[in-house]
Amino acid sequence: MNLDQLKLNNHSTVAIAGGGLLGRLLAWRLLEAGHRVTLYDAGSLSDSPSAAQTAAGMISPISEAIDTEPLMYDLGVASLALWPKWLQQLAVDATPVPYAQNGSLIVAHHRDVGLLQQYTQDMQRQLPEAAQGRSLDKQGIAALESDLGEHFQQGLFLAKEAHIDNRQLLRVLLQRIKKLGGDCVENTAVDVEPNCVRLLENNSTVSFDLVMDCRGVGSKPQWQGVRGVRGEVLRVQTEEVSLQRPVRLLHPRYQLYIVPKANQEFVIGATQIESEDRSPISVQSALELNSALYTLNPAFAEARIIEMQSNLRPALNDNRPQIQYKEGLIKVNGLYRHGYLLAPVVVQHALALIGIGNAAAQSFSGVLFCK
Ligand SMILES: Cc1cc2nc3c(=O)[nH]c(=O)nc-3n(C[C@H](O)[C@H](O)[C@H](O)COP(=O)(O)OP(=O)(O)OC[C@H]3O[C@@H](n4cnc5c(N)ncnc54)[C@H](O)[C@@H]3O)c2cc1C
Repeated sequence: MNLDQLKLNNHSTVAIAGGGLLGRLLAWRLLEAGHRVTLYDAGSLSDSPSAAQTAAGMISPISEAIDTEPLMYDLGVASLALWPKWLQQLAVDATPVPYAQNGSLIVAHHRDVGLLQQYTQDMQRQLPEAAQGRSLDKQGIAALESDLGEHFQQGLFLAKEAHIDNRQLLRVLLQRIKKLGGDCVENTAVDVEPNCVRLLENNSTVSFDLVMDCRGVGSKPQWQGVRGVRGEVLRVQTEEVSLQRPVRLLHPRYQLYIVPKANQEFVIGATQIESEDRSPISVQSALELNSALYTLNPAFAEARIIEMQSNLRPALNDNRPQIQYKEGLIKVNGLYRHGYLLAPVVVQHALALIGIGNAAAQSFSGVLFCK
């Protein structure tokens, strides 16, 4: 197929199946480019069942590359360059989305300091020098996070990493989509076909110039290889502790991160279990997350647990994102645990397929595109 066949004419009609992270970003960009968009979601759009709603919102190319593969660093750095520009565009007439590039902090308790050394070595082996973090002693940790200095002797500071208020982003995107005239159809599960969506409740079809599939784990019946990876998180609130940036605690049995949010809330996560079980968080996971949180700073003991959630990260076999295309249908999936880290660069490439954006958007086409 000639790629030109995918290019959209002015004011084309586009259906987007799935109003999570990818679906909303694509809907917004397409509306800004002058197209007519209908956004379908199987659930509510204001209280979204998406992985995007459960996520912690870390944008951490270095930490994720060490845990997965160096490619995540390159893709993540490209996305990091886009987030501030996109958020600035989004903030027109809307409440700004909190986003901070304050770096992140990796710590380990004294008995686990070998894990920190291993982590540092992996980073030095896998990533370019410019990406590498700075080792910190107790004073260095306290200078960055005064509420942690007493509890840790050694740490690592990854200055380039960022975090975003993901729920505020989803809210603002929805407002913007509606303001730009997007048609939002919630509580409506669909299947996708080239140039049409099929409404599952009555099997009727609706035609469009283009359909984009962004259903995450919901794509599984129509995309072999999509799987869900269970993740469980807590959300707590306390006035007793303040953090400026995400903190990761290295531990021999589990990895914990804590991400500060508005109103003195913190997201603590996350388990990673190869299961598509969507049932509530287990006692064991809740205990492990809570006790790790308590060891980070005992002042968390009085924090109030305001939410416990589990959800599925949409992944493909190689845990990489993928964009599949044919005439009338583009499918995007596999963001796995890197949705916020990778979404801008993935969205940019999907839009480049239909003639929106510039040539720079093609830099990862060899990795992301698949016919
Ligand atoms: C616990 C947890 C923590 C995470 N933390 C981070 C993090 O810190 N940083 C990071 O970068 N990433 C993180 N992620 C990953 C990130 O949330 C996902 O990669 C991202 O949300 C995937 O985006 P998506 O749009 O593909 O899917 P989703 O956000 O899941 O959206 C899919 C949407 O499709 C809808 N849908 C499903 N089926 C249908 C259907 N048949 N018809 C219509 N609509 C349908 C769903 O209702 C949903 O709204 C985390 C994920 C989890 C679960």
